[in-house]
Amino acid sequence: MRPLDAVRANIVTLEVDAIVNAANSSLLGGGGVDGAIHRAAGPDLLQACRALNGCKTGQAKITAGFRLAARHVIHTVGPVWRGGAHGEEALLRSCYVTSLELARDHSIESIAFPSISTGSYGYPIELAAQVAVASVDAWLTAQPLPVAVTFCCFSEADLAVYETVLAQRRPS
Ligand code: ADP
Repeated sequence: MRPLDAVRANIVTLEVDAIVNAANSSLLGGGGVDGAIHRAAGPDLLQACRALNGCKTGQAKITAGFRLAARHVIHTVGPVWRGGAHGEEALLRSCYVTSLELARDHSIESIAFPSISTGSYGYPIELAAQVAVASVDAWLTAQPLPVAVTFCCFSEADLAVYETVLAQRRPS
């Protein structure tokens, strides 16, 4: 099986090639992990984001990491949970896949994801963690290049959910 791990951390502290931001479609900053990343990266990040002209739900765009330890920030826009019958799962999967594609295109070898959409966007964490792990696992299995992926959880409860899902993976 591909190496995937989960940690409890503030994502801005992680020393990886890229951290992923659960942004909103304006890419001009927000609360939650987005706010934390912009505060830690400094104002140059907002300036870089202005040049990107927003991002559609399920897509991703990349900037430098500025003051962060991470060299890059990959900004992706997760779906707002509206009960589960509005394409949320496919859009969430697309966030992980498009982020990994960008990482590959920029020779990124280590990447950390927050639990996209599970804060203010309301995606139930038990479901979102399954989509996250399955999407990343499938993508890594199909890729010849090794990319180390970390799921960065903000609470012990979220970490427990990810650890349970990771423990249930089948060898591929
Ligand atoms: P969304 O709008 O996609 O739901 P949020 O930022 O509200 O984005 O929440 C996404 C996830 O990020 C939640 O699980 C939240 O607890 C977590 N989170 C918030 N701040 C941080 C941080 N500094 N580092 C890692 N995860 C964070």
